[in-house]
Order: sequence, then C-alpha cells, then structure tokens
Amino acid sequence: MTVTNTLFADAMTRLDDALKHVSISADAIERLKFPKASLTVSIPVRMDDGSLQVFQGYRVRYDDTRGPTKGGVRFHPSVNLDEVQSLAFWMTFKCAALNIPFGGAKGGITVDPKALSKLELERLSRAYIDAIADFIGPNVDIPAPDVYTTPTIMGWMMDQYSIIRRQLSPDVVTGKPIALGGSLGRDTATATGAFYTIETLLPKLKLNRHETTVAIQGFGNAGSYLARLLFDAGYRVVAVSDSKGGIYDAKGLDIPSVQKFRALHHHIEAVYCEGTVCNITNGQTSITNEELLELDVDILIPAALENQIVAANADRVRAKYVFEVANGPVSSAADRILNARGVLVVPDILVNAGGVTVSYFEWLQNRGGLYWSLEDVDRRLKRNTIDETNKIWQVASDLKIPMRTAAYVHALRRLGEALEAKGTRNYFVG
Ligand code: NAD
Repeated sequence: MTVTNTLFADAMTRLDDALKHVSISADAIERLKFPKASLTVSIPVRMDDGSLQVFQGYRVRYDDTRGPTKGGVRFHPSVNLDEVQSLAFWMTFKCAALNIPFGGAKGGITVDPKALSKLELERLSRAYIDAIADFIGPNVDIPAPDVYTTPTIMGWMMDQYSIIRRQLSPDVVTGKPIALGGSLGRDTATATGAFYTIETLLPKLKLNRHETTVAIQGFGNAGSYLARLLFDAGYRVVAVSDSKGGIYDAKGLDIPSVQKFRALHHHIEAVYCEGTVCNITNGQTSITNEELLELDVDILIPAALENQIVAANADRVRAKYVFEVANGPVSSAADRILNARGVLVVPDILVNAGGVTVSYFEWLQNRGGLYWSLEDVDRRLKRNTIDETNKIWQVASDLKIPMRTAAYVHALRRLGEALEAKGTRNYFVG
C-alpha cells in the first residue's frame, strides 16, 4: 500500500496490521482501500453584516456493504478532505466491530463555529444540507453530531432535508433534539459506551475502581459525561482539560463542580483561576494539555482531537492504559512506541462506539415510530458494548496482538464476509 504523510495513510497502516491476522479475499481488501464516494462542496452563506462568505464542506461515504453509511459532521477550522476520509474509514470499522448494520461515512465544514452568530450557524448548517442533499438519505447516508456540532444543529439539518424532500424525514440525521425524534440517552451515549468498555476491561486489567486514577483530555460531550460517570462510580479523576488548558488535583477533582463552573465560565481553567491567580486551592493546579498527557496516572483518556499522542511525546506518556475516546488521538508511530513500552491502548473504534450504537437505536425508533425508554436504550447499549468488548479482548488474547489490531481483525471478519457474499474472484473464475 502506498504510504504518504497523511492522516489517511496513517489510518491505512492499521488495516495493514490487521490483514496479517485475518484471511479475507483479495477483492475485499482492494475494496476497503478506497472510499466509495467523496463530495467537496462550496457553501455560500449570507453573513449578518450582509456580506457573502463561502465555506468548504465535505462528505465522504467510505463503504456501504453492511448498510447505509453513518458518521458525524464536524465544524472545525482544521477540517479537510484527508481528515474526513480518515474519519469515514474509522466509522466503517467501528460499525463492523460493534456489529451495527451501517457502513462508514463522515462530513465536515472548515469553519470556526465560535466566530459565527447563532443565525449564521443556522444558515451554514442548512446550506450544508442544501449542498449534500442528493448524497445523503435515510437509506443511503445518515449524518450525526461530531466536534462542535450539537443536537440543535442536527435538528436544523433534519428540517432542511425534510423541506427539500417535501416530507418529514427524521431518520436522515441522528443526534437530534428529543422533541424532533431524538433518542433518549443519545447525548450521553459515547461516554456511557466508553464507561462500559472500561468497566468490562477493569477486572481483566486487575484494576480496582477506587484505586484507579484517570486523566481526561477534552471536556466536551464525550469527555465531560465520561468524567462524571467515572467520578460517580468511584474512580479518582485527577485531571481534565479543554482547548484552553486543564486542572489537576492528585487527590481527585470534584467533577460535578467542575461541570458547573465549566457551564458558567465556558472554560475549565476558570474553575480554579477565576478572578485571581491559579494554584491557590487545596493542591489543585492548572496544567497544560501537554502536561496532562504525561501525568503519572493509571488511565489516560484523550477525548478531544486526533494526533495528540505522536512519536514526539509517546515516550513521555506515563499512564499504563490509554482509552481512546477521541477518534485517532494516537498516531501509528506512537502506537508502536506505546506497545513496546507495554502501555495498553484500547482503540477508538471500540471505546467511542456508544455514540453510533445509540444513533442506530435512534434511526430504528424513527423508522418504527415507536420510542424506547431510557432504560431500554441503556440495556441494549450495555449488552452490545460488553459483548463486543469481550470478543475483541478474546481475539487479542488468542492471537497475542494489541487491542487495536484485534478490533480491526474482528471488524474485518464481518466486513470480509459481507464483501465476499457479493461474489469473489473464486466464484466468478475458479
Ligand atoms: P465537543 O465539541 O463536545 O468537545 C471537544 C472538547 O475538546 C472540548 O472540551 C474542547 O475544548 C476540547 N478541545 C478542542 N481542542 C483541543 C485541544 N487542542 N486540546 C485539548 N482539548 C481540546 O466534541 P465531542 O463530541 O466530545 O468529541 C470529542 C472527540 O470524541 C472527537 O474526536 C470526536 O470525533 C469523538 N467522538 C465523539 C462522539 C460523540 O457522539 N460526540 C462519538 C464518537 C467519537
């Protein structure tokens, strides 16, 4: 496979690693090297001051052999086609690893959403759907939230698609507000799935909740809810951070009050640095994101963006276990360094799959017109997450391979079977 210096090339090395341990047809491998379709669009938006600004938008459908493609939409200044394609590739393997009957997709707009007014954000979200409406659909490709996109934005997107099609189409987008057909439990699903994965592996790793220290980078949808679940279960969450920086307390942070302050002040440092200098309260100190990644903790949870642990800092990671809640936070070069040092990395395609699992439940509820209780959602999410985590752990133990490679092997077996069911060289020639 051609290796160039892109995120996608790095992502493909994970496929190469897994292919050494699984026997699937050459046809299936060839199919999985390329996205099914990629769309780049220009999105003109009338700004509040009357000027016209054109944004770049993307949607990539990677593979739909196992079902309609599924994946979030990211609003971020660094969004580009390489990133969107990589995220779509990961979604394909995530859905297969968790046995969700969807293929993988992803979308994004290169924009700093914090610089837009609410009305500009709505016009941009609706204009994105205008631009990609023929590329998506309830049986084709179903968007969802990702970094800096919210249930409100998903509601606008669903509404815009329904206006274009002239029929209500709640099943075209997931992660919607409950009042517009969202699922109970979707807002906390990624964190809840990650929590069940951690809890399933805890006894295998011979850890005990009350003696387990945790540091979390990223305090958004996924990171903040997970911090709370871990705190409530008795784990010692000693550090959390957001884009502006973080806080640390060796005795453990009081996560409910961090959440409260974050909601009030919009960044974490305000918790202990508000109106005065930092480092003044009971041993809590402010730390940078880089320092957080290097803390001496049992579990490190990157829950922000990709490429946070790379060759340059992997040697300095002191955690024994890394649970990837963000997509792609550990580069393949860093993976090799961490593996060699005996640090166990539990991969994104398993750890953060709670989001797409409950998105699948939301889609099912929209199609059935029958809505589930929070208990039903949680019971099904818990069962599926625990089952697939145990299966991936078993693959890793049987083949003596890292958890990431095991998750890809597990996914590849399902993808390979589906691709081969369409007919392979052997069927047509041999
Ligand atoms: P979010 O927008 O709610 O939160 C992102 C958080 O990361 C914020 O706290 C932000 O301040 C912080 N952040 C941004 N840049 C940072 C930096 N350079 N250093 C440290 N922190 C930084 O996003 P989210 O939905 O929580 O997504 C976070 C990660 O989880 C992403 O990689 C996303 O792809 C992944 N993920 C999210 C979901 C979901 O359902 N929300 C599902 C699967 C995977």
